[in-house]
Amino acid sequence: MAAVAVVDSVWLVGSGSHPDALTDPHDCHCYLVWDGTGGVLVDTGTGLGAGAWLAAVAEVCDPAALTGVVVTHYHADHAGGAAAAQAAGLPVLSSGETAAALASADESRTSLARARAVGVYPPDYRLTPSTVHRILAGGDVLRAGGLEVEIVDAPGHCDGHLVVLVRVAGRTVLFSGDCLFAGGRVSMQAIHDCRLDRYAETVVALAGREVDVLLPGHGEPVLRDAGLEIGRAAESFRRLVPPPNFLTS
Ligand SMILES: [Zn+2]
Repeated sequence: MAAVAVVDSVWLVGSGSHPDALTDPHDCHCYLVWDGTGGVLVDTGTGLGAGAWLAAVAEVCDPAALTGVVVTHYHADHAGGAAAAQAAGLPVLSSGETAAALASADESRTSLARARAVGVYPPDYRLTPSTVHRILAGGDVLRAGGLEVEIVDAPGHCDGHLVVLVRVAGRTVLFSGDCLFAGGRVSMQAIHDCRLDRYAETVVALAGREVDVLLPGHGEPVLRDAGLEIGRAAESFRRLVPPPNFLTS
């Protein structure tokens, strides 16, 4: 287990699937952006592999120099490590919806109870309540070293989902959480707050942004011309047909 360089200034520091960055099999991909003077983390994993995740971050930078960790959304595989991040002194940054769910470790709002019941998480897994340091909304720009980290509202996969855009080494990188995946796929689940109409608006709007690299919360990265794949997903939504579902393909 180690920090795995993905593109210039970006590392994979946690994952449920990448063999070299594995923190816990239930974790999403967790990323570090670091330009040598400052940076941010994107997503925290479940918390089950928090020690390994924090150790991987410390391989690359002094965690105290980071602006914090942006939690893209409140599903446990992305947000469950927020309490561990907070305990390690890392400011946790999220949407208001995510902050409210994490404050009370809400198993209904986050769909954790249902996901655990069908075996997505271990039977004894629980969210630890955590306090979000700063509420983010679309249009916010975080300064981290020499980086500008843009926050974009991206509901659809669930309420309160954010994605993150960062310009590094001449390329625009989209950290898409569970919003978009390689191959122009999306993540649709039969849960209370997966909203296809909002998803369509989100993806069409993202297709209007210039994106070179797509780093999703699961699966393979798209290291060049990612805008073409986002455009394919948007075109499908424009024709009123949901794009391929990452969870079934
Ligand atoms: Zn999710």
